[in-house]
Amino acid sequence: MRIVIVGGGVMGCATALELARRGVKDVVVLERAVPGAEASSAAAGMLAAQIESRDEEELDRFVTAREAYAGWAVSLREATGIDIAHRRSGVLALARSEDALAQMRQSVDLQRARGLRAEIVDAAGARAIERELCDGLAGAAYYPDEAQVDPPQLLRALVVATSRAGVVIRGGTTVSTLVTEGGRCVGVALDEREITRADVVILAAGSWSSLVPGVPAELPKVRPVRGQLVLLEERPPRLGTILFEGHAYVVPRGDGRVICGSTMEDVGHRREVTAAGVHSILGAALAVAPRLAEAEVVRSWCNFRPSVVSAQGTPLVGASPLPGLFLATGHHRNGILLAKVTADAVASAVLA
Ligand SMILES: Cc1cc2nc3c(=O)[nH]c(=O)nc-3n(C[C@H](O)[C@H](O)[C@H](O)COP(=O)(O)OP(=O)(O)OC[C@H]3O[C@@H](n4cnc5c(N)ncnc54)[C@H](O)[C@@H]3O)c2cc1C
Repeated sequence: MRIVIVGGGVMGCATALELARRGVKDVVVLERAVPGAEASSAAAGMLAAQIESRDEEELDRFVTAREAYAGWAVSLREATGIDIAHRRSGVLALARSEDALAQMRQSVDLQRARGLRAEIVDAAGARAIERELCDGLAGAAYYPDEAQVDPPQLLRALVVATSRAGVVIRGGTTVSTLVTEGGRCVGVALDEREITRADVVILAAGSWSSLVPGVPAELPKVRPVRGQLVLLEERPPRLGTILFEGHAYVVPRGDGRVICGSTMEDVGHRREVTAAGVHSILGAALAVAPRLAEAEVVRSWCNFRPSVVSAQGTPLVGASPLPGLFLATGHHRNGILLAKVTADAVASAVLA
């Protein structure tokens, strides 16, 4: 069976690896740039299942995805020697008012009832967990099992593991259209008009997925939502826990690097880090951890979350309406978190 995957981000590479692991011999990943060039290496790397889920179904799915990482990190290290820096650094979601804290208490109670670890702490309790917090807090919700990985390391590990498993990754190769014959997707055409035939094509082109010609018109559209990030370095390292306030977050890597994010912008694929973006990100970060004011600004970047335009915004995973075409795209803010479980689901759908 020949399988062609369009896109070499975390979705394309993780799915290729899983297919190879299940015995598929002929898997090719076609990547326009280099593997991990886009959202997947740009992400903050939080595995924030309890913070990011919006309902109980999503909570279960996200927690399963987070827990899948423990074994995956070990197997990637064994296969490649690369450490993806999987750490249960925990999350503190900060509340500045009693009203905000009461709302958090509802979600914490619900999660505890489902057997998850979560607790409400007062300001002193929050500071006992993370010394560097701001003043003026009513309290916080603490989720000790939330975790993180280092996305560039994850992508490096995936590329090495897939290559060693026999997958061919072709960088610098743009798919110009899906090829359909007799109502079935039978391959892809490349820039130079070369056609690559395949039994199965998997669309994993991230926020560009709806721009690949030949994608069925009835599929929900995937649009880009730009996010900007700023990397700080604190010496010596002080922060240890991921901090959230609203959509703003601070992700300490544990070695002095601190990723601060982010924006959610509907500006198409405009690749710009803006003054307003950096201003709001650093303002929010310093508001939760004031000593970050002394940290060095190392760099800033942006990329594009693949966001599904539908009422629920649910990712597109598995079979599509076009026979021969499968989907692994549209994971918006949580594509790193959902990578392993998506790869498993897509491989199962393809091999069913
Ligand atoms: C600022 C920011 C912070 C984030 N933080 C987190 C986080 O903390 N935790 C989390 O879980 N998620 C996070 N995400 C979301 C996560 O990064 C994405 O959901 C995930 O990386 C999407 O992976 P992907 O493989 O679908 O897309 P991408 O990584 O964008 O990969 C798609 C690939 O397809 C290639 N491609 C496109 N068109 C073609 C074509 N025609 N031919 C060949 N190749 C093509 C592109 O070059 C690209 O490499 C964040 C995203 C952003 C932008």
